[in-house]
Amino acid sequence: MDLFEYQGKQFFSKYGLPVSSGEITFTVEEAVEAAERLGLPVMVKAQVHTGGRGKAGGVKFAATIDDVREHASNIFGLNIKDHVVKRIWIEKASDIAEEYYASFTLDRSAKKHLGMLSAEGGVEIETVAEENPDAIAKIWIDPTKGLDLETATQWVSSANLPEKAVEGATEILLDLYKSYVEGDADLVEINPLILTSEGKVHVLDAKVTLDGNSTFRHPEYVEFDQTQTRDERETAAHDRGLQYVGLDGTVGVIANGAGLAMATVDVVNQVGGSAANFLDIGGGANAEVMAGALEVINNDPEVKSIFINIFGGITRGEEVANGIIEALQNVEIEAPIVIRLDGTNADEGRTILEPHLSEALQMAPTMLDAAEQAVDLARKESN
Ligand code: GDP
Ligand code: MG
Repeated sequence: MDLFEYQGKQFFSKYGLPVSSGEITFTVEEAVEAAERLGLPVMVKAQVHTGGRGKAGGVKFAATIDDVREHASNIFGLNIKDHVVKRIWIEKASDIAEEYYASFTLDRSAKKHLGMLSAEGGVEIETVAEENPDAIAKIWIDPTKGLDLETATQWVSSANLPEKAVEGATEILLDLYKSYVEGDADLVEINPLILTSEGKVHVLDAKVTLDGNSTFRHPEYVEFDQTQTRDERETAAHDRGLQYVGLDGTVGVIANGAGLAMATVDVVNQVGGSAANFLDIGGGANAEVMAGALEVINNDPEVKSIFINIFGGITRGEEVANGIIEALQNVEIEAPIVIRLDGTNADEGRTILEPHLSEALQMAPTMLDAAEQAVDLARKESN
């Protein structure tokens, strides 16, 4: 779950991180009123789920109300890497002396949290990472031990921050780590973390990705979930509680289990086709879930065939087969379907499917056979 910058700043402030005051606005007039309330000068900042807003003209300094009006007019509707700006954050402008970079994320191969800190922050951090990687001080944190003051202090000094920034930066990093762990985030990034001309360390930008599976612990995340950018297909799948990712191909994929769903996408590619989506219906493949999955796929006009790949584990083959038959009675499917059913009680399941087979509903003995059949059908339907 990606947060907008202003949501990220609200999230940070709960953990005591110093952020600037501001207001979220949806129209030029609202932006002007917000600036009047906050007091000039302000920053006019596009809120989109992508970085590089500054370079794209989405972050502007405004010294007067006329500036606010002009910048807000230009930024609303601006397209930043295919994200159209619909909200603008008006924030009290800060006086910047220096720009740093700080983040925490998960290093899966190290099975540790990775902290990164650099005295050379700002809009060019990717260039720093490429050309001068030594300018980024990295720290790997054992999640069972956490980050203590002493380690954090050493880390900050290894990043060559100036003496006057060390204490403030250390405090911020400890709070940032706390927000990352307690808030169940996958990524927290501050770029730039600034030193103001008054000598205070301050958070100027916020990039936060939360773990969507943690929402049961954080009911307030519902608000962030509602502002996710999803395409139409993804919204429909999300409403039905399905794990769905839209892709560009023509073979609709339904599988039980994320691993099998990924393998299915791979095998479709391997035999020369392309998947229209990733869809994991989870453990229970009952009629209702199957019908929901078929509906979502059916609404995708690019889908020319559907590959249902089920490996029965706890879910038994006959339940799956009955689920598919029942679902097909409730949803009218346009594209031909190929089913591969294996695992627990697969024979019983296939026996149930047998009398229903036709051009529109086919069965294949293996995953590879089924993929080839589905790709073949998609090709024929496209011609
Ligand atoms: P990004 O381009 O999407 O990363 O957006 P940022 O929020 O990081 O803003 C881009 C740049 O705008 C920052 O690196 C700063 O140089 C500048 N900027 C942002 N906020 C302020 C501010 O309050 N005062 C000043 N002077 N510059 C700012
Ligand atoms: Mg930034």
